Amino acid sequence: MKNLLMSAAIGDIAGSAYERRAHRIKDYDKVKIFSSRAHFTDDTVLTFACAEAFIEHLDMSMNLWKCANEHRHAGFGSKFKLWMANHYPRPYRSLGNGSAMRCSSAGWLAGSVEECIKMATETAAPTHNRPEGIKGAVATALAIFHLKNGASKEYIRENILNEYYPDWANLEYAAFHDEYTFNSTCAGSVGPAMICFLESKDYIDCIKLAISLGGDADTLAAIAGPMAYAFYKKMPDAVVCQAIKKLPDWMLHVNDKFDEVCNI
Ligand SMILES: [Mg+2]
Repeated sequence: MKNLLMSAAIGDIAGSAYERRAHRIKDYDKVKIFSSRAHFTDDTVLTFACAEAFIEHLDMSMNLWKCANEHRHAGFGSKFKLWMANHYPRPYRSLGNGSAMRCSSAGWLAGSVEECIKMATETAAPTHNRPEGIKGAVATALAIFHLKNGASKEYIRENILNEYYPDWANLEYAAFHDEYTFNSTCAGSVGPAMICFLESKDYIDCIKLAISLGGDADTLAAIAGPMAYAFYKKMPDAVVCQAIKKLPDWMLHVNDKFDEVCNI
């Protein structure tokens, strides 16, 4: 498989056009993959920063800090911006969905469940040093890990969704779609993103389901996208090409090298 990291970036870029209040959307049929407003945001920057730290053996916290500061207008949240501005950044006990949206490299790289949990924790720990924040990364990465290894949707629902987010485990997309509102916590994002994947028909369908929840669209799609790619094993070439054109050279370099290292 190629373009593993792009599976999060495409979700982020597609969702970016719908993350602001005025543009949020509930209508699936009106979602365009890559409207004219689409651009990469913090979710993509930090996804590639985590992956780069793993494959280049860099300090995770330092690399997140460096990459974030090189893209300081990518749409970071207010508390993360304070972390970025500190020359000696310390974790700030976040429970936001930022840990879940940046962790996909752990799921792709890990060779065992234990390694996946350890790596996902490493991606979260620089900012999300509390159980709820770490859990968002671990649950997301484990879903990707099991799916790349051939797990079924039923397995993910029973062993990841039910285990980590039992409040969401028996819900169907249609049951919460209308009432779902913007939520930037792990607890309010990982479960719904996982359900978007579980009820999807293919990669693009998953991204559109996530965006049309009308919430934190780019992040929901960046969390769900890698699960869908790990399961369906394909994304449309034209969409991948369009997304690649929107990314800076360092991300494209990380993207290629990451595929080589993973060798899935
Ligand atoms: Mg974002």
